[in-house]
This record gives sequence, structure tokens and C-alpha cells, in this order.
Amino acid sequence: MYETVIGLEVHAQLKTRTKAFCGCLNEFGAPANTRTCPVCLGFPGSLPVLNEMAFEHGMKAALALNCQIQNFTKFDRKHYFYPDLPKNYQISQYDLPLALDGGLKIKIKDREKTIPVKRVHLEEDAGKLIHEGEGSLVDYNRAGVPLLEIVTEPEIHSPDEAYEYLSELKAILKYLEVSDCDMEKGSLRCDANISLRLIGAEKLGTKTELKNMNSFKAVREALNYEIKRQTGILESGQRIIQETLLWDEVSAKTVAMRSKEEAMDYRYFTEPDLPGFVLTEEKIKAVKDNLPELPQALKQRFIRDYGLSDYDVEILAQEKRVADYFEACFKIYPQAKSISNWLIGPLSYELNSRNLDIQSLGLKPPELTTLISFVDQDKISNLSAKEVLTARLNSKKTVEEIIQEKDLLQICDSGELSAIIDAVISANQKSVQDYSSGKANALMFLVGQVMRQSKGKANPKVAQEMLKEKLTNV
Ligand code: ADP
Ligand code: MG
Ligand code: ZN
Repeated sequence: MYETVIGLEVHAQLKTRTKAFCGCLNEFGAPANTRTCPVCLGFPGSLPVLNEMAFEHGMKAALALNCQIQNFTKFDRKHYFYPDLPKNYQISQYDLPLALDGGLKIKIKDREKTIPVKRVHLEEDAGKLIHEGEGSLVDYNRAGVPLLEIVTEPEIHSPDEAYEYLSELKAILKYLEVSDCDMEKGSLRCDANISLRLIGAEKLGTKTELKNMNSFKAVREALNYEIKRQTGILESGQRIIQETLLWDEVSAKTVAMRSKEEAMDYRYFTEPDLPGFVLTEEKIKAVKDNLPELPQALKQRFIRDYGLSDYDVEILAQEKRVADYFEACFKIYPQAKSISNWLIGPLSYELNSRNLDIQSLGLKPPELTTLISFVDQDKISNLSAKEVLTARLNSKKTVEEIIQEKDLLQICDSGELSAIIDAVISANQKSVQDYSSGKANALMFLVGQVMRQSKGKANPKVAQEMLKEKLTNV
């Protein structure tokens, strides 16, 4: 009955050495107010100087989102009062942003769709208020950190599409190495605008703006909640009030923050302390030609060159470092499927449970491929291999040392195994006869006996094959 209409505004902190308009270090987690100077504290008479790297990062991201970089762009002051904003205005971009009219391709239930990106602009972050007991403290380390704001057209039509868009956007920004995109540290933030309209209607409905979601899942959940809430209001014949709502994770509800009546007039005007910037086509082309491989291109290449499935590639390509790790392993041991299975399975299990990324795990590609090749050659069982991986990560011992120490090598040497099997056959003539008279279960019993005789060290697959062969030749 109603169509969902969503538009997303994403703020990504740019990964630069220094802040957007001063020389203070852009660093998360430093002691409060130790990364500040007259510029980012808004002292009278101080002057901003644009960080070139922030600008380049912005261009890269805009180009990767297929936006049109504007040939002339400028900064504006957006005025409002808040204790975390010492200048009483934020340097942002208003009427002449860095880039316009892009799009991001997403996949939704095997269908492709391009989410139109309306604009991409640069601005600065505010400081951080820390509410403690009766009062509040303010930390200005974050004030002046460069931000990229990426705004979509209201053409996202479900919470799932919003989730996909955000995941893809994050992957792109991370591949470009322009942002860490860590929502927990606040380096990626998303405001979601949502309205409903009757199916077939052209005019947009009244929207609400949702804030304060700290994961993509929370964005999806908040949007689903808001669809139900707005549907209820519309169905009872009432009108939606245009307002900003905060998502409350604990009660899983949206809570009113401010309504449109209190909407602010920011009194934008051109920042007089920064020049306008002219971007020639050559300059834009130079940045475009130097873009690294992006997630979608990498996925296509992985499917084509390594014969991996869509499913595997989706997971491997989520993190560029994991994709790189895969390729490093493949160079040493060209078994794409085995490596992929190990990265998606046991290795990502270890990464999650240790809360580490693949680089800080300290397992070199040759170590992983050694382990995999032991399994692939039936020298150790899959189960033992997982045990070896965990032990390797908990110690400085090598894969080979651990296998030896734990005595995990399976017997696949046919001489040794052959002797055990012969002994089992002669000791279990009844089962041998059962097998020849067609009782398939008897074979499993005999395999079990071989496993027992070998103290669990026979390779069951090899043992079964050898048994079968010997029994048919009896
Ligand atoms: P505002 O001035 O309130 O910030 P904008 O026009 O700049 O509004 O849009 C902000 C975001 O809200 C954009 O992502 C846009 O796509 C989205 N948006 C605008 N109108 C609607 C609507 N009626 N329903 C859903 N999203 C909307
Ligand atoms: Mg807005
Ligand atoms: Zn500073």
C-alpha cells in the first residue's frame, strides 16, 4: 500500500595526518585537548589553511562514486551554537560542493540497482561532549578533523537496500584508504531520512530523520521500526510530523529529538578566510587515473581468475586485506577453493574470537598454505588442522612443530596401513563375509576396526578405499 522512500547522509572522517584546516594531528584516542591549536579552538585572528590530502581523499571518493567533480568549489560557514563548536560555525560546503550527481551500484537479491548520489562535500568535525555526573566536559581533539559528507537522492526503497548501500560505500572508502569507517569509533556515521507515500504517488511524503545508530544493522532496524510507526500514523488518518528522531538501541525505538518548528537557520555564507578552488580537467583526470582497484572490479577479477563462487568472493572482498592475503596465499599454493574455505571458515572464526584483523593476527601466508597442504594431502584431518591453527596462534611454534608434538600425522603410507588392514581382515572374517554378501554396513565396521588398530591415526578415507580394494580381491 505504501512505498518506502529513504535518503542517507553519511559522514566519514578522512584519514589524514593532520586536521582539515590546521597542523594538529588527526588522531583518535589521544588525551583530551592535547591535539588543539588556536585555529581549531577558534581563537580570534587565527586563519585556516586547507589540508591538501583531505581534499585529494575527497576527490578520490567522489570519483569512485562516479560523481562529477566541480571545476570550481568553495567553503562556507554554517552557523550554530553548541559547546563542542568553539568558532560558533562549522566550515562546510553549501552551494558549490566538491562533487555532484554520482551513483553507487548495489546488488539486492541478485538484482543490480544504482543508488544515485546527490552530492559529496568536505567539512570539519566538531569536538566531543562527555557527560559526567552533574556536568559535561568537552574534548576538542576532534574539532577540525576532516569529514566527507555523502548524500543520496531519496531513491532507496527498503531498509535492506540501505544496508547494502552502506556496506558497499564502506568497502569503497576502505579500499581507497581514505577512511577507517569504524562506526564504533565514530569515523563513519549515518543519518537516515525516511518517508512513506502511496504506491504510484509522485509527491514525496513528509520525512523523519533518524540519528544515533551505531552500526549498519542498527540503521536497518531503526528504518524497519520507523516504517511500522509511520504506517500506523498514516493508516489512522493522521499526519507525519517532520522531526529528528534518535534511535534508542536498548528499547529498540525512535525517540523525538527536535521538530521542524525548531529547525535552525544556519545563515550560510562563503568562508572569507579560504580561497575558492579551481579544479582543471587534467587535475581531475590525474586523480581518476590513479584510483586503485575497487571492490566490484576485484570481485569480478576473483571470479574470472580464480573460479571462485559469488558467495566466496563477496566475503573475501569485504576487506581488501583479506583479498590481498588470499592472493598472497594463492601465489604460494594455487588452490583457490581450499584457501578461500580456510579464510572464510576457520581463519575468520579465529579473527572474530580474537577481535583482530588479518594483519595483526601474525600468521604469514606460507604458514597457512603449509597447514592447508597438509590437509589437502590427507596427512592430517580437517579437525586436527583447526587445532593446529589455534595452537599456532597461541604460541610461537611452527605448524610442523605442532603437528609433530601433538602427533597428528595420519597414516596414509600404504605399506603401514596395508599391514593393519590385513590384520583386521583376518581377525574379522564374519564381517568380511557379510560385506561380500552385500551388507554395506560391514565395511564401516571394518574401517572402524582399522581406526582402532591404528589408534585413530589412519586416514579414514584412504583406509576405506584400501579396504574396499582388498575385499573385492579376496
Ligand atoms: P534537509 O534540508 O532536511 O537536510 P535535503 O533535501 O538536504 O534535506 O535531504 C537530506 C536527505 O534526506 C537526502 O539524503 C535526501 O535524499 C533525503 N530526503 C529528502 N526528502 C526526503 C523524503 N521526503 N523522504 C525520504 N528522504 C528524503
Ligand atoms: Mg540534513
Ligand atoms: Zn588545530
